[in-house]
Amino acid sequence: MLSPFKADLHIHTVLSPCGDLEMSPTAIVDRALARGLDMIAISDHNTTRQVKVAQRVGKARGLFVLGGVEVTSQEEAHCLCFFETDDQLDQMQAFLDAHLPPIPNDEDRFGYQLIVDENEEIVGEEPYHLLNAIDVDIDGLYDEVHRIGGLFVPAHINKGTTSLTSQLGFVPPDLRADGLEINRFTTRDEMVKKFAYLKRFNFITDSDAHFIDNVGDVYNVIHMEHRSFAEFAKALRGEDGRWIDTMAFRQK
Ligand SMILES: [Zn+2]
Ligand SMILES: [Zn+2]
Repeated sequence: MLSPFKADLHIHTVLSPCGDLEMSPTAIVDRALARGLDMIAISDHNTTRQVKVAQRVGKARGLFVLGGVEVTSQEEAHCLCFFETDDQLDQMQAFLDAHLPPIPNDEDRFGYQLIVDENEEIVGEEPYHLLNAIDVDIDGLYDEVHRIGGLFVPAHINKGTTSLTSQLGFVPPDLRADGLEINRFTTRDEMVKKFAYLKRFNFITDSDAHFIDNVGDVYNVIHMEHRSFAEFAKALRGEDGRWIDTMAFRQK
């Protein structure tokens, strides 16, 4: 039997230079629960190093936390990548470490890149600036994410910067992806009306929160059996009757 689960699948932590200092995994999980979400994904820029803490906190408090990362491809297009296991996250992290340019972060200019634990204590930081593009293009990134066993979803494709449309001028008709993300400023219908070939994809829509008040501002309702990576993957691909409602946030 399918049940509806509210899911905001694009949230930054304090580890993203642009993420507010209040964005600890614990604060994000608490806020998500307070807003009635069943599921979130942590998707920092070019790093997965805050995911496992968020998953531990979520597990203890009853929130399903999907492991993710928002990778900046060589074309400077943001792409969400989601993973199921710790081992997959470690493989993705090794890939990112090998392909992010080793340019130190300028904290005064871009902000801190802090790793914090469950108690909001600082336990580390990312030395290299996380907003830079990796030296792998969209196709190469898709291949690597799939080799690891993850899901590949180009982010906020309707956005005027750092998206497929802003960087390439359009979504390539032969794009390989598991789904597409839009932000709150458009709808799937609007996108498909403009670009009919996008019909073959299912969409998600998320808050892209960088500040605690924005967690859950936008969310999906995912109709699936239970909260898991495998069920989410089926919903994204429209398998076995699972589906994703991206219009729910508009009904508030
Ligand atoms: Zn982005
Ligand atoms: Zn983002």
